[in-house]
Amino acid sequence: MILSNIIDSVTRQAENVADGVTQSLFEPVVRLGVTGLSRAGKTVFITSLVSNLLERGRMVQLASVADGRLQTAYLQPQPDDILPRFEYENHLAAMTGADPHWPQSTRAISQLRLSFRVQPQGITGAFRGVKTVHLDIIDYPGEWLLDLPLMDQTYAQWSAQSLALAETRKTHFAKFSKLLAQTDAAEKLDEQTAQQLAKTFTQYLSNSREAGYSACAPGRFLMPGDLEGSPALTFCPLPEQQAKRGSLYREFERRFEAYKSKIIKPFFKDHFARIDRQIVLIDMLGAIHHGPRAVADLRGAMVDILAAFKTGSNTWLSQLLGKKCIDRLLFAATKADHLHHTQHGNLTRIVEALVQDAKTRAEFSGAITQGMSIASLRATTQEDHTHDGALLPCVRGTLAQTGQEVAMFAGELPDDPATLLAPALAGKTKWLDAEFNVMNFLPAKNTLKHGLGVPHIRLDKATEFLIGDKLR
Ligand code: GDP
Repeated sequence: MILSNIIDSVTRQAENVADGVTQSLFEPVVRLGVTGLSRAGKTVFITSLVSNLLERGRMVQLASVADGRLQTAYLQPQPDDILPRFEYENHLAAMTGADPHWPQSTRAISQLRLSFRVQPQGITGAFRGVKTVHLDIIDYPGEWLLDLPLMDQTYAQWSAQSLALAETRKTHFAKFSKLLAQTDAAEKLDEQTAQQLAKTFTQYLSNSREAGYSACAPGRFLMPGDLEGSPALTFCPLPEQQAKRGSLYREFERRFEAYKSKIIKPFFKDHFARIDRQIVLIDMLGAIHHGPRAVADLRGAMVDILAAFKTGSNTWLSQLLGKKCIDRLLFAATKADHLHHTQHGNLTRIVEALVQDAKTRAEFSGAITQGMSIASLRATTQEDHTHDGALLPCVRGTLAQTGQEVAMFAGELPDDPATLLAPALAGKTKWLDAEFNVMNFLPAKNTLKHGLGVPHIRLDKATEFLIGDKLR
């Protein structure tokens, strides 16, 4: 074991003990991690969660709301001074005003603290009186979890793997591939060449993501936060070779190691390792819309993302976490309001099947896991139409592109998830049957009413799973 890892592990365990003491003597804190790949719905989820916990009229499936134990909820200054605050008020205003629109998506880590006054259950509860529970919500890009496998890789190994993956995305890779062929990595480092290579590689990752691919590591290249343009992000994969000190290859190798030690490691140590409960949001419908390749790629990305939540799957992380573990993990397919409720069960089964493989390779570290279909902000209503004598369960909403109200039928999700996953894993490029369409609906106008948060689907059930036990 490397010395720094031993020290990390010891520090982490000491912090756990300290946390335990603080919580038993004072007020319990639950740290809820919210993650998912870009555009999975993190910003909308957190905004809706907070809105619905402050105004709880739509949270009947949250037991402590149903039985009146949760008395009040209020926003508080967050505990970590150096993390940006999640811009709840701006995001809520964007989603719920007279001219509603979707808020700015997650670009980096942020945090928000919500506190509750709860009357505990039972006879002892009556003696103990009202308690305060703090919920720290931590929003972070899922792309950053894709970096975890890099911790156990050398630059040569990572390069070989990235270049092999890129070969399978030919059209997006062409420009970078051409530049690579013209580059002599044994030559002395020239910063202009380095920047050009890193820029073209980032462009390839960005194009891949636009085309619906999910596995686009290193995570900070697309989600740099405040690191944009820094040398730690100015590298790219290069074919392995023996090169002298000062060469482009050796310098990129050094920057790759700096990326690991100065960017990946602090994120896992300072933020990820402190999370208690986690929701992973998945834009399953978006991937299905993009076709079998996007579904296969999303599955691969989920395997990498979920590796972060499993014991023993990454030696470096296991040492860092010590005994600390996330004890509840929810996989939620978002944007379920694109579908009539009769299809929500199928969507849940698909997302569960998608993560099943990642789940069976190694056990999650003692966490209870569940799959669910949710809509953080319900932007549609349901209506039934008949077409050729058959009932067509549709949803109605306002199209973002045209501002027109339309009723639409997205397509039929299969009862058996294998119908989708098998062709995806077999490398098919098109679905055999009908295509599946996803439209961008705008949020409805003026949805905030006194005592009610923003309209949602199953957000209360998701909240009960994630933190319900802490509010008893
Ligand atoms: P992030 O990148 O994970 O923060 O994703 P966002 O929360 O910004 O969501 C990305 C986009 O997905 C939004 O701009 C919306 O277009 C869409 N979206 C997110 N949540 C919902 C939802 O509950 N219903 C609908 N209809 N669209 C949603």
